[in-house]
Amino acid sequence: MPEITVVKVERVAGEQGQAGRVVHIERPEEWAACPECGVISTSVRQRRTTRPRDLPYGEEALHVRWHKRQFACKEALCSRKAFTESVAEIPPRARVTGRLCRAAARRVASGASVAAACREYRLGWPLTHRHFTALADAVLAEPEPVEVLGIDETRRGRARWRKNADGSWDKLERFETNFVDLSGTGGLLGQAAGRTGSAVEGWLDARGQAWKSAVQVVAIDPATCYRTAIRRALPHATIVVDHFHLIALANKAVTAVRQRVTRDQRGRRGRSVDPEWANRRRLLRARENLSQRAFTTMWNALIDHEPTGQILTAWIAKEDLRSLLACARQQQPRSVISHRLFRFFSWCAGSDIPELISLAETIEQWWPETLAFITTGITNARTEGTNRLIKDAARVAFGFRNLANQRRRVRLACTHQTINPAA
Ligand SMILES: [Zn+2]
Repeated sequence: MPEITVVKVERVAGEQGQAGRVVHIERPEEWAACPECGVISTSVRQRRTTRPRDLPYGEEALHVRWHKRQFACKEALCSRKAFTESVAEIPPRARVTGRLCRAAARRVASGASVAAACREYRLGWPLTHRHFTALADAVLAEPEPVEVLGIDETRRGRARWRKNADGSWDKLERFETNFVDLSGTGGLLGQAAGRTGSAVEGWLDARGQAWKSAVQVVAIDPATCYRTAIRRALPHATIVVDHFHLIALANKAVTAVRQRVTRDQRGRRGRSVDPEWANRRRLLRARENLSQRAFTTMWNALIDHEPTGQILTAWIAKEDLRSLLACARQQQPRSVISHRLFRFFSWCAGSDIPELISLAETIEQWWPETLAFITTGITNARTEGTNRLIKDAARVAFGFRNLANQRRRVRLACTHQTINPAA
């Protein structure tokens, strides 16, 4: 510890026969400056011994005895008659050392809850949290500019339901928009409340023009409000739509067609005896991940038992879209991309199935962003990984009530800076 000299170390048999060390410390200087007037005093009025609690030394307990001096202030104009010396590591009236508090703060930074760190180091919640806040704020500066930015949403806390006067229910959910560095090591750059265009625009505007100019590509979910906001805030940037969400839309269309056909044919919901229900998971799996046997089972069941053919038509549309998006991985030339796009569009248009027509319309509306995915191969996958960390941080803390605390904890957990708990 700086500013402190060790006078002597005694070995003692501690409680329950456990060996420990008693370390006697004091300041080397025989003088101190009055905190009120700054005049140096050498006249010691009395000495006191305090027992600030410190980190354990290895396996053994470490008992600190600090021999403090109280000085008399000799400055005639000073209102303070006496003062006690202190050091930065053990401020006045502190009963624990600064490094014990910092060790607890590092435990929180490395993923423990504040309450768990308090138990481990036998400290109070406010003290531990104050030190954690200081540590986090020192580490989490304003984010550095990034080249590829990922934007998506997470739900904050649980959904709640509210009953209206007319007896209907409203679902109340709170969302956060997350900004993630997809090209570098910045991790989670920040969060904004809500999942609106203004949340995105406000956060980007707060970074300043130089920061915004540095962003070349933005990857988003197919949400129109995000796209509009980015076109306004980052007019120079290329927008990429995440292909995973496009495939999810196609899978949703397959399921919607299957459920509608079952309703029309049988006048009820699907049951395990219905071939289309029995094959519902095979329908959603990628063709190349189906074994030949699984594919044949699914195909023949639908050919034999689904007279309208709509479910297989939807499944083929889904596979056509997947093969279009696979052009990114396969680095296909433009001719192949336009051929597969045409095949997908004409299949959907010729099907006369409302779910497929609306899927094709969505792809058409997002075609520039989809093509940007196919040519760049950029995905929001890292954002999805961050979302898991965000949920883990909330789980460790058993939920957050204070938004500022939540954002600090989450951002530290999702930023690739490692904080060594032993440092
Ligand atoms: Zn003084």
